[in-house]
Amino acid sequence: METNVKVALRVRPKSHEEYLQGDAVYCDEDRVRVHDGEKFHESTYHHVFDQNSTQENVYEFVEDIIESAKHGYSCTIFTYGQTGSGKTYTMFGPGWEIGLIPDYSQYGIIPRSVNTIFRGQDSQSTIVCSLIQIYNEKLYDLLQDDRMEKPLRIRMDQTFGVYVEGLSEYVVQTVDDCIAIIRKAETNRAVRNTKMNAMSSRSHMIFQIVLETDKVDRDGKIKRSKINMCDLAGSERIDKMRGTNKSHLSELTNINKSLSVLGIIISELAKGKTKRSFIPFRNSQLTYLLKDSLGGHTRTCLIATVSPTYDTVQDTLQTLKFASKAK
Ligand code: ADP
Ligand code: MG
Repeated sequence: METNVKVALRVRPKSHEEYLQGDAVYCDEDRVRVHDGEKFHESTYHHVFDQNSTQENVYEFVEDIIESAKHGYSCTIFTYGQTGSGKTYTMFGPGWEIGLIPDYSQYGIIPRSVNTIFRGQDSQSTIVCSLIQIYNEKLYDLLQDDRMEKPLRIRMDQTFGVYVEGLSEYVVQTVDDCIAIIRKAETNRAVRNTKMNAMSSRSHMIFQIVLETDKVDRDGKIKRSKINMCDLAGSERIDKMRGTNKSHLSELTNINKSLSVLGIIISELAKGKTKRSFIPFRNSQLTYLLKDSLGGHTRTCLIATVSPTYDTVQDTLQTLKFASKAK
């Protein structure tokens, strides 16, 4: 059956510290088996990337979606998983947060997509990037508002669809421009205190590319597509954080809320539901922002990331469940 949502699972390798810990995750082509200490749980996805998979392997899985954005189709790519499972590695690449620029072989999906977009593009097209952070149901501009002082609002426009009022936009002309944007965001993040850093695992980060060509469609409208690349907040369960104060709790509830609304919407889309009026996009800021880039004539891809060890097996099982519903 033709599916609307492509779903892959990626298992990251063990770190040095985890070397002596037992394995819980076993991969076999499109199948994964997870041992919870008592029994195996098995599931299949469109693709399973094992510990040895490269950034390039993962990019090949999404490349056709980025290609179709060049032909006017908007798309959304998510990385979903618990904190430490490899979401940011997959989306951006390693080391950005400590000021390193990885070499090309380690680039994640975002810089690679920019490369694809530039390939074969004529000079008449414009490519504009923004970086949004959603924390506790509020939107911030990661490239301007490093202190997270000015929450922004989502608006609807007849011509442009969903947009964020006051969001800064950067025109990029080379892959290096894109790298500079990611670095700027990381430097902004680094100037925040540690409390803010802890928040980053609880925020969604959305790298948005708007691609506008000089070509017009049949209605005379300019061809325009949006590529959303979302590094989602950690999906770990709330009970891990027991004993935290009230404001923490509302924050965790909001994170879980947006992830569960997203789960509902993706599984509706996967089932091929077309009646958009029944889809609860407005129930969270994340899905409202993505309203016109999910479903309809758009393409969606979910990459679920998991750690390989026993220690995290309960979170791993929860991630598999989420990803299975999206298939
Ligand atoms: P998350 O964003 O889900 O919290 P990260 O992407 O920060 O997780 O990954 C956690 C750690 O594991 C980082 O040090 C990262 O470089 C490393 N890592 C993640 N995925 C891989 C991978 N596929 N190969 C090698 N190292 C990885
Ligand atoms: Mg991360």
